Amino acid sequence: MLVYTSNGNALELIEPSIKQGGEGAIYRIKNYPNRVAKVYSDSNDARKRESKLAAQVSVYGNVNSATGGVTAWPMGMLYNNKREFIGFGMPCITARQELDDLYAYPPKNFNLDLKDKITCLVNLCESVKRIHDIGQCIGDMNPNNMKIDEKSLRVYLVDCDSYNFNHGNQSFRCLVCAPGYVAPEIIKVCKGYTYEDCPSTTFTENTDNFSLAIHIFRMLFNGAHPYSRRQAASNNITNSNLSSVNSMPVPNCDRSVEKGESLYFQKITGYDIPIWSPDITSIPEYLRSLFERAFIKGYLNPNARPKPEEWIAALKMYANDLSYCGQDYYWKGNKDSCPYCEARKRFLGYIPTQKAQQQITASMVPVTTYNYVSPMKAPAYSPSYTTYNHVQTPVDRAGRTKAITSLVLGLLALNGLPYGVGVLVGGAGLICNLLARKTNYRGKALSAGLVVSILGIIYGVFLGAITIYSLIQYQN
Ligand SMILES: [Zn+2]
Repeated sequence: MLVYTSNGNALELIEPSIKQGGEGAIYRIKNYPNRVAKVYSDSNDARKRESKLAAQVSVYGNVNSATGGVTAWPMGMLYNNKREFIGFGMPCITARQELDDLYAYPPKNFNLDLKDKITCLVNLCESVKRIHDIGQCIGDMNPNNMKIDEKSLRVYLVDCDSYNFNHGNQSFRCLVCAPGYVAPEIIKVCKGYTYEDCPSTTFTENTDNFSLAIHIFRMLFNGAHPYSRRQAASNNITNSNLSSVNSMPVPNCDRSVEKGESLYFQKITGYDIPIWSPDITSIPEYLRSLFERAFIKGYLNPNARPKPEEWIAALKMYANDLSYCGQDYYWKGNKDSCPYCEARKRFLGYIPTQKAQQQITASMVPVTTYNYVSPMKAPAYSPSYTTYNHVQTPVDRAGRTKAITSLVLGLLALNGLPYGVGVLVGGAGLICNLLARKTNYRGKALSAGLVVSILGIIYGVFLGAITIYSLIQYQN
């Protein structure tokens, strides 16, 4: 199929399409392996979108550099031979795994350990922060539109043409949102309206912050949604009443979201959290309080919800606070046992057959047909990536300084100080190293400093012994 750019240059789209969605199809472009084209299937639909896409295309350069190439942002308008707008070109994103894949329980083939999941979350927060920093908001934070690169664990954002887009004094709304990710204030004001004709404000940075908190929660709680619930009475489950054990189908979560009822933060008689989910005490207070701001305080005051940079700092601290249970990482807290292993035991003890487990997993996948247009999934390539500057917590810095000091002192002692002074210097290095271990710093300088300090002490003892021996020899 031949299409034309705004300059009138012809591009050949390679057929068949690589992805067919509700709105249109995605094609590879001949001679442009790093680009793909989205062509709308309905010409009226395309016409309605033309002004938004033109505005989005006009800021492609800024967005692409501000977000470090993580977005499949529209980069060029495409027309048919009658000069009618039919679609747009965008970067091709090759990352294939979706955030949703990590929310399945029991886990799917693509799974990550908790530290890697946290890295994904930090990268997700960083991407959202960069979108917010340029005055935009995402709107529909559908986990299917967030792709994870398995190697780098970077999170790429696709389906950007659906974003809530502000351009000068024009505002182009996001018209869809995956169930389970819609903030309570939107659910309330959009009753009886679509997102398009709702007279009140719909998507904002604050509503993105709500959806972001849902993602972070699900990643840390075995995929359980913070507003999911099961009937507590269904503890004696059998295959026949299995449906009552499942976390509520995600669309129903929206009802709990609207009422602000999360079982992780309040008791509701007759209901309990999903069995495969650790409880809220499985995470440290500094994370719990952020979730409380997102879901409880943020219910009436959306401004109270944590911003991406606050999550980044807390998640990085959390990654440093984790222990290893033999299966995966977990936060030890005041307990001896691992909450994830406990959840797995509960789950396995609970579910009688493998078929039942499959049913449970299937029921956890958000239903994508609820008041919701299925999004296009752009496949893609690896855009050049700028290095992310993560927010570093003060604790990290203090720990790193101590660890490096221990390394320096150890090296000094190893250099061979006369009269066994190396023992003292190496000893000081060891003390610095032990102090560094009390912080959240877990870098390479920590183990290097320990080894070098101990070797420095040993060498110092050796040199001291030689000095004493030669003094004795001299006196004799
Ligand atoms: Zn465990």
